[in-house]
Amino acid sequence: MKTDYKGTNTICAHAGELVDKEFKGAVSPLYMSTSYAFEDVPVKRYPRYFNTPNQEALCKKLAALEHAEAALIFGSGMAAISTALMTFLKAGDHIVLQQTLYGGTYNFVVTQLEKYGIEYSFTTGWEVDDFKREIRPSTKVVYLETPSNPLLTITDVKGVAELAQKHSIISLIDNTFASPINQNPIDFGIDVVLHSATKYMGGHSDICAGVVASAHDKIKEVFNTAICFGGSLSDYTVWLLERSIKTMGLRVEAQTKNAMKMAKYLKSNNDIEKVYYPGLKNHPDHEIAKVQMKGYGGMLSFEMKDYIDVSEFFKALKLIKPSMSLAGIESTMLSPTKTSHALMSEDDRRKQGIKDSLIRFSLGIEETEDLILDIEQAISKVKNRTVHA
Ligand SMILES: *Cc1c(COP(=O)(O)O)cnc(C)c1O
Repeated sequence: MKTDYKGTNTICAHAGELVDKEFKGAVSPLYMSTSYAFEDVPVKRYPRYFNTPNQEALCKKLAALEHAEAALIFGSGMAAISTALMTFLKAGDHIVLQQTLYGGTYNFVVTQLEKYGIEYSFTTGWEVDDFKREIRPSTKVVYLETPSNPLLTITDVKGVAELAQKHSIISLIDNTFASPINQNPIDFGIDVVLHSATKYMGGHSDICAGVVASAHDKIKEVFNTAICFGGSLSDYTVWLLERSIKTMGLRVEAQTKNAMKMAKYLKSNNDIEKVYYPGLKNHPDHEIAKVQMKGYGGMLSFEMKDYIDVSEFFKALKLIKPSMSLAGIESTMLSPTKTSHALMSEDDRRKQGIKDSLIRFSLGIEETEDLILDIEQAISKVKNRTVHA
């Protein structure tokens, strides 16, 4: 196994790969065994011990991508997130979490932590001072997510990492939206990086997986919790994910370029009220994004002018798919108030600035021109219908 590659695309293509000694095939062989020898072996292997040959191979690639010493692969993003949280928190501890969080993480925190006697607070904003204000003597973990969902706010990763270090608190970040191609939080002092590999790592809307990446000692701790909760990933999916990540650099670069072009186009469209994309110069956090991101990512959000019915607009689309989830090679759109943020009260949504007219747009790898044509024909269809009604 080789992990000492420098270039990101070389890491994507080759880091960790298994050598097919017997047949000299070009790709990692797939080992589906759930039973391995226990005598005269250096490691006792078992899928739920996170140490089958394919799991170990993929984890080397994941660690290399996140500039981490080690990584673990899980059966879903939530399996990775919940296991990491339950590793670093115990009864009597307190955690500070960013207010704008992935819905599943928010749900885990508000429905599960109290049962274990763990206290939590959410920040009121996403500035470093907002995190600082919530820290108590019992705070053990600080948790952030940037760019955030769905408004693409940017949190100062280095600022929060330094705050955590100063208070001897462990910092965890959900790096799903940026992907390791556009952001490496460990370089800015973050302790633990989490991913829903269901998104950019899988990238084809057909794999569900999660990642924890960190230093050896922290991964050892996460491992000890993980073998108890048992959220491991099947070796077949591990192997598929290794294949997907080979093209992640190319995919995310294309998606990021598409998002930038699309953000500029939407901003110039008179039927669009507002565009949220950290790559735009007028985005309030653009300067921080510029410092900590290698690219501004493939996700953006926009608000339609109020005379456009969002549901009718979705129905009129021909190429872009109105569907859940994100980060696939196909462009998709969704309405946060009807999906990811449906469980949130109207009041909370208003506080976060999530309107019914808001659309979250996950850019795929299609040509930007085709995507723009689709949006234009859909808008004109909806507008004509309104005029003639
Ligand atoms: C999807 C997602 C998750 C959860 O991942 P699953 O693979 O669905 O469990 C966590 N964080 C973010 C930002 C996500 O988009």
